[in-house]
Order: sequence, then C-alpha cells, then structure tokens
Amino acid sequence: MSRSCCWNFSPGPAVLPEPVLRRAQAALWDLDGSGVGVLEHSHRGPEFMAVFARAEALVRELAAVPDDYDVLFMTGGASSQFFLVPMNFLGGGTADYACTGVWSQKAIAEARRFGTIHVACTSEPAGFTHIPAAADTAWSAAPTYAHFTSNNTIYGTQWRSEPELPADVPLICDASSDIFSRPIDVRRYALIYAGAQKNLGPSGVTLVIVKKDLVARGARDLPTMLSYRTFADHGSMYNTPPTFGIYVIAEVLAWVKELGGLAAMGARNAAKAKLLYDELDRSPLFSGVVRADSRSHMNVTFRSTSPDLDAAFCAEAAALGLLGLAGHRSVGGMRASLYNAMEPAGVAALVEFMREFAARRA
Ligand SMILES: *Cc1c(COP(=O)(O)O)cnc(C)c1O
Repeated sequence: MSRSCCWNFSPGPAVLPEPVLRRAQAALWDLDGSGVGVLEHSHRGPEFMAVFARAEALVRELAAVPDDYDVLFMTGGASSQFFLVPMNFLGGGTADYACTGVWSQKAIAEARRFGTIHVACTSEPAGFTHIPAAADTAWSAAPTYAHFTSNNTIYGTQWRSEPELPADVPLICDASSDIFSRPIDVRRYALIYAGAQKNLGPSGVTLVIVKKDLVARGARDLPTMLSYRTFADHGSMYNTPPTFGIYVIAEVLAWVKELGGLAAMGARNAAKAKLLYDELDRSPLFSGVVRADSRSHMNVTFRSTSPDLDAAFCAEAAALGLLGLAGHRSVGGMRASLYNAMEPAGVAALVEFMREFAARRA
C-alpha cells in the first residue's frame, strides 16, 4: 500500500501536513542551501538560530503570545511536565486539578509528590465520557494553581472554554492534543504545555508557553535541567535543544499560517468533526461514545453494536487505507483523530466507508 492512498487517523504520533514533510525531506539533505542538513547543523550556528527564531516568532504570532510570556522548547514529553509543574511551582502548597481522564490522573499522581492536591471535579464515575459542569466543580479557596487537560485524547472529550476560576489563580493546561487547533487566549493562562506529536510536529519536543512572573516565582534549588528558569534564561539553549523537532514545528506553524491561522484552523477542524458526528447521529450502526456537549474536535470516539463488529470495521478500514482507527485499549471501539493535518477529504473517505459498512452489516 502506498502513502498516497492512505489516511492516517493515529492518535499520536500523528499525521503531519504533506508540504511540511516534503520540505523536511529536502532539509534533511540541505537546509536552505547551506550545504549541511538540518540534523547536522550546530544549534548555535546562524542557520539553526534562524530556524529557532522562526519557530518562536510563529508561536508568538499565531497565538498572539504577550511579551510577558516565555516560549520554551523542552524535552521529556508532556509526561515530564506532569512533575515539572508541581516541582517548580507547588512548594508544598495546595493545587487544584480537574480530573477528566488518564492524562489528568497521571498529572495528579505526579503532583501529589510535591504538595496537597485537591481534585476539583472528576468525570471518572461516568467513564470520563463528559467534561464536568461548573455546577459539579468545587475549586478550593486559594489554590497555588489550577490544572486541567483541554482535550482528552483517549476518551474524545474537550473543554469548550477554560474552566471558570478567579483571575488571580494561575491556570495551567495540558494542551497536548489540541494546541493550536483553535484560537486560544493566552492571557487566561499562566502556563500551557504540549507534547508536539499530536498537533505540532514530531515526538521529542514539548512546547511550553509560560508567564514570566510565574517562572520568576519558581523553586530555586532544583537541578538545572528541571527548572523552567534555566530554559527561560537561556532561550531554551542551555543544552542542545531538540533541533529537528523545532525545525518541524516551524514548518508546521508556517503551514498553519498559510491556511489562515488559528481561527481558520478552528473552523476547518469544527467542520471536519461535524462531518463525522453528523454521521454518528444518523447511522443505523455506529454511535458516539461521549456526551454531545463534550465532544472533541480532535479525537472522535465511536462504536458499533459489538466488539467483534468493531474489530471487523477496523480491519476492513485498514485494508482500504483508513489507518489507526482502533480505540484506546481502555475504551475499545474506534477513535478517529482529526488533528490539524488531517485533510477534510480523509474524514469524507471515512464517513463514506462507514455508510457502506453499515449498509452491509447493520
Ligand atoms: C499524548 C498525551 C500526553 C502524553 O504525552 P507524552 O509526550 O507522551 O508524554 C499527555 N497529555 C495528553 C493530553 C496527551 O494527549
């Protein structure tokens, strides 16, 4: 099977835009006519410094990141942010967490090593199939910070907007699976982090957008590489940064800008998701897993009427080049990940096959 007849619905690492991959392919051999490939350039040389500056400038431009925020490129994935955030900022205090899935649970478990964690809301009793309502959420009086997971990759739920908290509570977000998929008001956050491998680029690089005054308040007795201050003070270049990942992020963001920026991306993603959810709502065979008001535009979870039929659907879909559709092992069924780089035509191809399959098997 060749790539040109496949659509990749993988949850992550995930599909990247074709023009980006073609440019990266050329840059592996020769970056911008420099005679040296992107993997081989010194991170302190002018060629890579230009790449780095472009990546940061595009993050700032696309998300309108204010000047009193740092843009950091780190490593260790979102999973390292789970402990870095409390290690730097909790200081034995109390932090509030919204628990909306396995990634939230992992963030909570790490944070408990560094202080008291108050779980302000949880959708666990309902199998994480919705985002808790404000009425079912109890934030504590003055938490050191509050943390939520904007998109729950495994279950297919997504916050429509930020949780409502007093403005002086620093809001921290794991946005790994929906960063830059729609407009974001950075001012509402103290820190946003995202592993790159869903919406931004390859695995191995983590984007962090953090308010400078939060960095300044961070713990001072930490190992060098575990302190946000190190990354902020050295422009993410205290040590060798993940150069290739940063290069790909720059190319992905240039592509997002070409398509019209985050507003255009949000409209495109909403239209893609609607195509699939509309099919789930009218299908005689398939149905959505999560509550309608919590549906994710990034990861659409659905199932047929039995695990055997789900397996048959995934196998037949894969044979047609519709790849990566099996649901997470803890949820079962199917999951179609519709990240920024998934073309509307891919979703249309999936919907067409769902109809054809349902006509035969419902
Ligand atoms: C994938 C994912 C993670 C884990 O990211 P790593 O980079 O593998 O550590 C954390 N949070 C969310 C929301 C994710 O989707």
